[in-house]
Amino acid sequence: MTVMVPSTTPALITPGQQALDSALHQLGHAAEHLGLDDGLRTMLATPRRSLTVSVPVRREDGRMDVVQGFRVQHNVSRGPAKGGIRFHPSTDIHEVTALAMWMTWKCALVGIPYGGAKGGVSVDPTVLTTRELERLTRRYVNEILPLIGPEKDIPAPDVGTDEQTMAWIMDTYSVNAGYSVPGVVTGKPMTLGGSLGRAGATSRGVQIAALAALGRSPEGVTVAVQGFGKVGALAAQYLADAGCKVVAVSDVRGAVHAPSGLDVADLRAHSAETGSVYGYRHADAMDHAELFELDVDLLVPAALEGVITGENAPRIRARLIVEGANGPTTPEADEILAASGTTVVPDILANAGGVIVSYLEWVQNMQAFSWSAAEVEMKLRDLMRGAYGEVKSLAAEKDLTLRQAAHVIGVGRVAEAHTMRGLYP
Ligand code: NAD
Repeated sequence: MTVMVPSTTPALITPGQQALDSALHQLGHAAEHLGLDDGLRTMLATPRRSLTVSVPVRREDGRMDVVQGFRVQHNVSRGPAKGGIRFHPSTDIHEVTALAMWMTWKCALVGIPYGGAKGGVSVDPTVLTTRELERLTRRYVNEILPLIGPEKDIPAPDVGTDEQTMAWIMDTYSVNAGYSVPGVVTGKPMTLGGSLGRAGATSRGVQIAALAALGRSPEGVTVAVQGFGKVGALAAQYLADAGCKVVAVSDVRGAVHAPSGLDVADLRAHSAETGSVYGYRHADAMDHAELFELDVDLLVPAALEGVITGENAPRIRARLIVEGANGPTTPEADEILAASGTTVVPDILANAGGVIVSYLEWVQNMQAFSWSAAEVEMKLRDLMRGAYGEVKSLAAEKDLTLRQAAHVIGVGRVAEAHTMRGLYP
C-alpha cells in the first residue's frame, strides 16, 4: 500500500512543517531499525484523525475575530488519545501533527496505556483579555467536542494554556454532558480533581532525567535553560535545589546571565510579578542566541521546536542537553551533536513526567479517588527511571543515540500493539 506522506518545499517551510519533517525523519529511522513493512510505516506516519475548525471569538470592543483550531489524534492502538492544547500564533496543522506523533511514542516509551494526540489554536493568548480567552477556549472545545472525552481523547496544558484553561474545558464538556466529567482533561486545578504533583511533573521529570544522565554529583554543575514557563521555570528550580548552578535563563522577551549562579526562586518571583525574566537586576542581560553557546555543563531547551539547528549546533559547548521542550533539536543538529560527543536526552523521554502524572490524575478521576503527593512522586520516579534505564541499555547495546533508542522502543511498542490487534475489517 502506498499513501502520500506530507512533503514540504524547503523554500516555503514553516516551523510546523519543519517539526513534522523532524518527526517523520525520526520515525523513518526507527521503522528501518525495526524492519517494519511499508504499510505499517505509512500508517504510523499519518494521523488517525485530524480536525481543523474555525473558532469565532467576540472581542471586548464587539468585533468578531476568527482563528483556526486543530485537534489531531495520531494513534490510538494502545489506548485513548492523550496530548496537550497549545495557544500560539505560529501553531498550524503540521506542528500539531508532529506533536501528536511524539505523544504516541512518549506514552508507549514510558509504558502508559494511551495513544498520542495534540490540539492547538493559532492565536496569541497574551493579547487577549481573560474573558476573550475564556470565550475562545469554550468555543474551540465545542468545535472539537466530537473527538474528546475521558475514554476517547484527554487534553492537557501546553504552551500558552494552563490550569484555568483546563477548568474551562472541563466545564464546557461537563455542561454538554449534563454532569461533571473531571476525567476529560488533566492538569486541572486541585479543586476540580487535579492531582497533587501535576503542576511540577514535567519539570520534575526533566530533573530526574538530567540527574540520571549526568552520572555524577549535581553539585556545581552549570546549567542554562531556554524558556521560563511552566516547564522551564520549575526545571531550573528543581535543578538548583539538587545543587546545580543555574547561570542563564531566557523567555520570549529576553535572556539573563549570572556566571556566579542565579537565585532561581527570586527570579521566579520577578517573572511572576513582571511577566518576564527581562529586567532582573541581579543578572546581566544577554542575547537570546548566546544562551545556547554558553560554556555550561547542561543545556535545557524548554520553549519551542527547532531551536537547536545545523547552524548553531557546532557552537554548543554543553556536553549534555536534556529536552524539556518537544522537538527542540533538528535531525541535522542531532547528527552534529552525536559526532561531537554531546549527549541528548530526547524530548519523548526527558519531558514525559507531564504525561505520566496526567495519566495518574486521570486514573484518580476515573476512580473518584486521590493519592498523596508522595505516592504520585514515587510512581513518577519509578516510570521515569525505568524508561531511562531501558533507553540507555538499548542505546549501548545497538550503538544508537538516546533519541534513536527511545524511538525504537516507542515505535516498536505501537507497531506491536497494532499488529496484535490486527487490521479492521
Ligand atoms: P509555557 O507557555 O508555560 O512556557 C513557554 C516559555 O517559552 C515561556 O517562558 C516563553 O516566554 C518561552 N519562549 C517562547 N519563545 C521563546 C524564545 N524564542 N526564546 C526563549 N523563550 C521563549 O509552555 P510550557 O508548558 O512550559 O511548554 C514548554 C515546552 O515544553 C513546549 O515544547 C511543550 O510542548 C513542552 N512540554 C510541556 C509540558 C507541560 O506539561 N506543560 C509537558 C511536556 C512537554
